[in-house]
Amino acid sequence: MKYLGIEPKRLRFAVFEFTGCEGCELQLANKEETLLAFLGAVDVVEFREVSSARNGAYDVALVDGAISRTDEVERLREIRARAKVLVALGSCACFGGVNRMKNACDLDQANREVYGDHPKETLPTRAIHEVVPVDLKIPGCPVSKAEVERIVQHLLFEVPYQFPVYPVCLECKQHFTVCLFDKGQLCLGPITRGGCDAPCPAGGLGCWGCRGKAADANIDEFRSIARERAHGEREIAERLGFFGGFEEHS
Ligand code: SF4
Ligand code: SF4
Ligand code: SF4
Repeated sequence: MKYLGIEPKRLRFAVFEFTGCEGCELQLANKEETLLAFLGAVDVVEFREVSSARNGAYDVALVDGAISRTDEVERLREIRARAKVLVALGSCACFGGVNRMKNACDLDQANREVYGDHPKETLPTRAIHEVVPVDLKIPGCPVSKAEVERIVQHLLFEVPYQFPVYPVCLECKQHFTVCLFDKGQLCLGPITRGGCDAPCPAGGLGCWGCRGKAADANIDEFRSIARERAHGEREIAERLGFFGGFEEHS
């Protein structure tokens, strides 16, 4: 297969999971209409959800999940040392994701309450880039398979990928969805990076910001508008803190 006369590289891909629900990996595996083309374009040498192969030699490592144990830190460093390109896959990997909420808890107390006399080792949650250098971050909870496929195409042709700079609102308006603020709901669409096609507002649920902050997002102005619409400080802070993508503002 050539594109504009250019022969794409054939890259070896590996996918690894850390603390998370593995939903981002499932996204890669479950879109059957493009799965064969995807698997035909790359060599998947390690991907627990689709294959028992364990090769150990790969060019691109897709890392799903956050880091919350010592053994994960060691494993991640080994992966980083082997991979030419390390990609953080999903909001857990990019920001810590929903796991990051535990950082606000007393971990010892939570451990005692959940595990009683059999406590588990647990560290404060960190995103992948807080432990090792990351070459590319693909946000979303879960990631958009279509976006991952576009990014893989760019990797194969060695063309830089440009994430959308517009917010979720733009895609929401393209669908003619009635703004949820006008229905009394809070929505992070104005400050969240677009590219997901705004499925949550279309389904009647305000955006929770799983793709992180949009370029040039004005968080202070957003807060002030949300307050004007009678949303309380706690509600706004919980929303901003949910996925960790606005952590410095929550
Ligand atoms: S980002 Fe969401 S879907 Fe992906 S692993 Fe984390 S919790 Fe699961
Ligand atoms: S519902 Fe949310 S995403 Fe849609 S226009 Fe309103 S604020 Fe923006
Ligand atoms: S609308 Fe918001 S919460 Fe929903 S997928 Fe898009 S960025 Fe994530």
